[in-house]
Amino acid sequence: MLKKWAKRVALVCSIVLMGTIATGCGSSSSAPTSSGQSGDYLQTIKNRGYLIAGVKNDVPLFGQLKPGAQEAEGFEVDVMKELAKKIFGDASKVKLEKVESKTRIPMLQNGQIDIVAGTTTITEERKKQVDFSDVYFLAGQSLLVKKGSPVKSINDLKGKKVSTAQGSTSAKNIREKAPGAEVLEFPTYTEAFLAVKQGRADAMTTDNSILLGFLQEDTNYELVGGLFTEEPYGFGMQKGHPEWVQYVNDFIKELKANGKYAELYKKWFKQDPPK
Ligand code: GLU
Repeated sequence: MLKKWAKRVALVCSIVLMGTIATGCGSSSSAPTSSGQSGDYLQTIKNRGYLIAGVKNDVPLFGQLKPGAQEAEGFEVDVMKELAKKIFGDASKVKLEKVESKTRIPMLQNGQIDIVAGTTTITEERKKQVDFSDVYFLAGQSLLVKKGSPVKSINDLKGKKVSTAQGSTSAKNIREKAPGAEVLEFPTYTEAFLAVKQGRADAMTTDNSILLGFLQEDTNYELVGGLFTEEPYGFGMQKGHPEWVQYVNDFIKELKANGKYAELYKKWFKQDPPK
């Protein structure tokens, strides 16, 4: 009887050991998982006791860390707090990690964050690298210029300098739409806007939703040229956890059904969400 028991313990130990070797885990404290690890990812988050959400620190209204503030604030930050509330019954059980456009996908792939809520457009190219939730916000690319600027649309950008962020669809799109423009790429949108303010760039380009946030900070600027792309935002997650993606999709549906989505949308964008 005792022998049988010892055998079973040995077997369980070796399975656990094999699992540890196979996934290479066991040492890292913050990394939630390594790619390809099976099992319920939600349980991994629950065991940790808090959600790790990647949010922007450079995007007004979505995720912005204001000078002197302790924590980033914005629509996406609030939505991640709601997600923590669904998981833990406590909106404070979320650790907000700063992401930039260029770093968000590697950070998901490395397992540094469970999810990114970072104005991320769902694209075919990105879908090869990470998984996306359903769409939670619709934007489109536009141009921000100083009021009275000769730049009125993407057709006026020949020989002009346009600022944007590294790793964004905005940088890629503007090269296609305005091949004569000189594209200046910065790590953050804060820096891209500063370049326009300081006259180092003639225009800034990215999603209208982001540009509108900067307009609120400084009324000497305006949006021109309408929308020339479609940018549907999805929450990004590491590949290989379909049940986690499903959980997040259910969460989006609940948020819309219970009115919380509309409440937060109104809080940040001062209007009702589109139907
Ligand atoms: N939505 C675009 C993108 O995902 C531009 C905004 C951003 O850089 O986050 O690239």
